[in-house]
This record gives sequence, C-alpha cells and structure tokens, in this order.
Amino acid sequence: SSDKSVLSIQSHVTHGYVGNKAATFPLQLHGFDVDAINTVSLSNHSGYPVIKGHRMDLTEFTTLLDGLRANDFLSDYAYVLTGYINNADIIRHVAATVAEVREKRQQQGKKDIVFFCDPVMGDDGRLYCKEEVVAAYRELVAHANIVTPNYFEASILSTVEVKDLMSAIEAANWFHEQGTPTVVIKSFTMPDDPTHLRFLLSCHDKVTGSTKRYTGVVQYYEGRYTGTGDVFAASLVAFAHNHPIDLAVGKAMGVLQDLIKATVERGGSGKATLNSRELRVTSDPDRLLHPSTVISVTPLP
Ligand code: ATP
Repeated sequence: SSDKSVLSIQSHVTHGYVGNKAATFPLQLHGFDVDAINTVSLSNHSGYPVIKGHRMDLTEFTTLLDGLRANDFLSDYAYVLTGYINNADIIRHVAATVAEVREKRQQQGKKDIVFFCDPVMGDDGRLYCKEEVVAAYRELVAHANIVTPNYFEASILSTVEVKDLMSAIEAANWFHEQGTPTVVIKSFTMPDDPTHLRFLLSCHDKVTGSTKRYTGVVQYYEGRYTGTGDVFAASLVAFAHNHPIDLAVGKAMGVLQDLIKATVERGGSGKATLNSRELRVTSDPDRLLHPSTVISVTPLP
C-alpha cells in the first residue's frame, strides 16, 4: 500500500464541483488513491433553487466503515480529509475513526495518519448547519492535525470575529488551545485593501509551546464561488505531502487563483449565473499540479 492514500469524507453532487467532486480529481492527478465516503448524494450544491437527493445517517456511515474494517483497508489511510458532513453524529464518529486508523497504523509500524479537517458550516455570514454541528466541530478540531476554516467558520467556532489579521491570529489561537497544531484561515477581507484577500497560517509546536505565523494575500475576484475551500483543502493535502506547510499553502493558493481565473474567463464572472460559476476543475489539469504562480507566504515577526 502507498503512503498517498486518503479517506475523503465529503459531499457528492451529480452536477457541479463541490465536496468530493471538487477534491477527488486534483488528488488523483497528484497520484493519490482517494477512497470517498459521500456524506450526502445530491443533485447539486445548496445554492441552487432546487436540491434533491439523499443524506447519509450515522448507521450508513458506520456500515461503510464496517466494510472497510472487515477487509482490513483502514490501516492503509495515510490521510483523512473531511469536508461537508452536516450531521453531528457522523462528525462525532470521525474522531473515533481517526483514532482507530491511527492505532492500526501504529500496530503495523506505519507512519502516523494526518487528519485534515475542513469544518464546513457556512460562509459569508450564513450558517447552513445546525448548532449541534458547531458543537461537534468544536470537539473534533482537537483531533485534527490541520484545520482549514474560512473566516466565518473560524469566527463561529472560536467566537472571535475574524475581521483583520489580529483577530485572525486570536481565532487561530483558540484552535491551538483546543489542540490543533496547524490552522489555515483561508481568506478574509482587509478593510484597507478591498482588491485582495488575506490569509493566515498559524503553526503551534506543542513541545516548545511556540507559535509560528505566516500571512499573504491573493487577488480578490468579485463574486462568490462554491467549492473553492474543497479544492483548496485537497490541494493542501497533496502539496503538504512533499513540501513544508508554508510552501504548500502558497501552492494551493496559487491553484485557486488559476482556477477562479479560468472560471471567470469561461463566462463565470462575479455576476454570472450560479451554473457558470461552477469551478472549472477539469479545464487545465496541469495547473492543478503546477500553478502559474506560487503565492508568497511570509513569516510574521
Ligand atoms: P469552506 O470549504 O471552508 O466552506 P470556502 O470556499 O468558503 O471554504 P474561502 O476562504 O472562501 O473558503 O475560499 C478558499 C480559497 O479560495 C481562498 O483561500 C482563496 O484563495 C480562494 N478564493 C475564494 N473565493 C475567492 C475570490 N472571490 N477571489 C479570489 N480568491 C478566492
């Protein structure tokens, strides 16, 4: 079994690119085996006027895990990546799943598992999950090696309103206090710079107690794009596999810039229809591997 194997627990949509539909292709291009658990199986993402399909419950989730366990697949996962779940029972069970994989790998002398947790709950001031989901994520993040909230999710979980670099640092500190070593707050707008989005990478060393922080900016494309966080998290798993985390963040940011630019150029500008703003994930595979620019990720003093 390879060390490029990921259990990806996210949504599935028939049409468009969010969740596992957005994450699987980039990861596979990078040579990863992606074992997907589809937490929901829906016609399209929830921004559209109509949404049809099925949502998994805890029994369905544990049934799939029973199958994976019985065939002895669980110890093969070098990575667990979680995205949209929106079910507090399943979110709570993920911690046990990660612990089980960790223990099995330890017994077999394999490298420790790395758990990337994207606590998908909402964006731009709109929570699309129940309060019990928030509570479940507050506990789950303690088990994650890396969390990748957007500014809104970071604010909800930490109760620190992320509105500038200082507040982003404070919010990241909350995650460190819970036990998460690495936090990426993927984007927030700066009052004095409306043409860019800023991000924060915060790395806490539990042994020394020290925290290294980095920041940078990307060009802001007017309008809302869905699936950006999902492609980002998948790309981060892939780049962090063989790069230091700050460089991996810069590359994943670069991938998103190329992808949004490609989407805009093919008619998906800020004011276009939702459907034309579906990320063009398959349009230029080489750019997913080699972004045209690697965004600078600068250490903070
Ligand atoms: P989540 O999966 O946590 O709900 P999200 O998609 O809301 O994530 P964002 O922070 O909005 O998360 O987007 C992830 C990344 O995509 C950002 O770090 C940024 O690089 C890029 N991005 C998203 N929207 C834009 C935009 N309008 N202009 C430029 N870059 C963007």
